[in-house]
Amino acid sequence: MTDKKNVPSMFAQNVFSMEVMKDRLPKDCFKKLMRIMQQGETLDMPTAEVVANAMKDWALEKGATHYTHWFQPMTGSTAEKHDSFIAPAPGGKALMEFSGKALVKGEPDASSFPSGGLRQTSTARGYTAWDPTSWCFVKEGSLYIPTVFVSYTGEVLDKKTPLLRSMDALSKVAVRFLKMFGNENVSRVTTTVGAEQEYFLIDKKMWDKREDLILTGRTLFGAKPPKGQELDDQYFANLRPRIAAYMQDLDEELWSLGIYSKTKHNEVAPAQHEMAPIFTTSNLGTDQNELAMEVMEKVALRHGLVCLLHEKPFEGVNGSGKHNNWSMSTNDGQNLLDPGDTPMENLQFLTILCALIKGVDEYADLMRLSAASAGNDHRLGADEAPPAIISMFLGEELAAVLKAIEEDDKFRTQTQTFEIGVNALPSFPKDSTDRNRTSPFAFTGNRFEFRMVGSSDNIACPNFLLNTIVCEELDWFTQKLEPFAGQEGFEDEVKKVLKSVLHDHRRIIFNGDGYSEAWVEEAARRGLPNYPSTVDAMPHYSDAKNVAILQKFGIFTPEEVKARTEIHLEKYSKTLRIEARTMIEMARKQLLPAVLDYVQNLCNGIAVKTQIGMTAVTEEKMAHQLGDLADAFYESIQDLEQRVNHANEVKEILAQAQCFHDTVLPEMERMRTISDTMERIMPRDRYPIPTYSEMIYNV
Ligand code: ADP
Ligand code: MG
Repeated sequence: MTDKKNVPSMFAQNVFSMEVMKDRLPKDCFKKLMRIMQQGETLDMPTAEVVANAMKDWALEKGATHYTHWFQPMTGSTAEKHDSFIAPAPGGKALMEFSGKALVKGEPDASSFPSGGLRQTSTARGYTAWDPTSWCFVKEGSLYIPTVFVSYTGEVLDKKTPLLRSMDALSKVAVRFLKMFGNENVSRVTTTVGAEQEYFLIDKKMWDKREDLILTGRTLFGAKPPKGQELDDQYFANLRPRIAAYMQDLDEELWSLGIYSKTKHNEVAPAQHEMAPIFTTSNLGTDQNELAMEVMEKVALRHGLVCLLHEKPFEGVNGSGKHNNWSMSTNDGQNLLDPGDTPMENLQFLTILCALIKGVDEYADLMRLSAASAGNDHRLGADEAPPAIISMFLGEELAAVLKAIEEDDKFRTQTQTFEIGVNALPSFPKDSTDRNRTSPFAFTGNRFEFRMVGSSDNIACPNFLLNTIVCEELDWFTQKLEPFAGQEGFEDEVKKVLKSVLHDHRRIIFNGDGYSEAWVEEAARRGLPNYPSTVDAMPHYSDAKNVAILQKFGIFTPEEVKARTEIHLEKYSKTLRIEARTMIEMARKQLLPAVLDYVQNLCNGIAVKTQIGMTAVTEEKMAHQLGDLADAFYESIQDLEQRVNHANEVKEILAQAQCFHDTVLPEMERMRTISDTMERIMPRDRYPIPTYSEMIYNV
């Protein structure tokens, strides 16, 4: 029996929340901070001083002794360096102290974080700056302060800064856009995100025995088990006790940190699960997703489990993604992807929808590369995840509405006829059409779901790129339509623009099966880009049109785009290098010796049997078969090593990534095929690493 849980009282108990602030800050200061958080007002030192003091008192009560500026550098994980509140007091004593300055600014030694060569060009050091639009929280004895990380000369060194910039830029553009549709009271538009997080859980004892999982997060060897996911008996299946206990523990931990963990269930692959929180602002949603991933890993260890966040830990079963549900909401409570109830609201919604259609078509390459990584390459297009081709799913009703606009027609349902801009459209029931799970970018009634994002990715990147794209398109529509706003012919003018946009960009809409081979051909006919791998996608970051919008809205300078591209490509090469070297190591130290040993054993058996006049047909066949495989395996090890060495010599960053992709990756695959064949033949107790069955069926 578990204790009765009081969730509302445990919720956000470790967060310096709005409630705590209201309680502990002087009224003026609280109001000021709210304006900073909600309307983007700038922070002044006196306010910071008061807040820091209140924060320290609260954190000490929560048992904290340290504080840390928590930031998201380009490494792919979060970073933190802890300082204690301790300060000398008279008589050799100590007191606990925390200044406004320490809250607002930190100076970690930035030289070891990836900057893509930005810091070579300037001698600037990096500093962290408090982001008051996210929540501070206490965890493991430290006060965590969400921060951005930039250089002294202003270059972006992290993932949060571009996100915050994109949210600000989008708000400005969207407010102006919405005015045309009569929204006089909207002063701020915020993007929202709900990230559904997929993950695997396996027993820690198995993980300990797999160097590949320990070093790379995925299995580099391993024959498919006799049973995979073909029976569809894992999706939404009842939770085994160990998993249920884990999920309960996880929820409580997430709730205490102010994360609205809402949904939990088993996913498609054996040992795969999902956690989805309630959506929030993109900024907070990003911080909370980073925090959630960390908590998931830590809670797992308490249960003797390991949480795998890699996009493709196991071949042959589904990998993990992170469905990025995205929308925009206004300070007067509208969800801008909600079709609304009046003709004007409908028209506004349809215009925003067309802005997205135009944007996703024109910047499909940015969307694609926002989800590109070595890990996600194994997942995208592997008939379980959206293909690497960007398209949009709108559902049949919405498609029919757009068709009516394009053809200057009325929209008809079975019983009624509607004129766009004159009648209110029937509300689109959520999930009215068959949920299309094969689309990378799907409309789901009141939001878009971007399904390409990898499970281990920081969601800041897809979100700031999407925000920037939308920014550009809303701006485009505003330029076109503003002269007509408030006038007689406004609606007709809107319809005219929508019509031409739909005519030009309808190719991006695809409601069919995105996993099919036919779609790949169809997409090629439509001229949609198809970038199967990171090395194909990433160079497009620097395409002129992409740099232009990133620069236009103050997200990145051209140098920063170049630096980002290089960081991603370098990471790609490093990932493959580590994977290849891990394979070589495991092959030489574990797998090949085990196979040779067994062949030796068979040969001894053959010798003994022959001596006493017996035949040893089976042993001979097996010894030959395994012996041949071992020879091929040995060749492959030598070959892979040579290819890695060769790739290491390539100086230029893109060329090196391409070399890893074109020469190292195929050899890794060849080597794996050989080892998986040997594994199938060898006795289980002689193969030195846990099998797939042992890993994915034993929790
Ligand atoms: P499904 O798996 O059926 O797509 P889930 O309930 O697992 O649905 O996840 C849906 C996610 O979408 C949740 O995180 C939810 O909070 C989020 N969401 C709902 N509305 C919005 C919105 N307006 N903006 C962003 N995210 C949203
Ligand atoms: Mg879900």
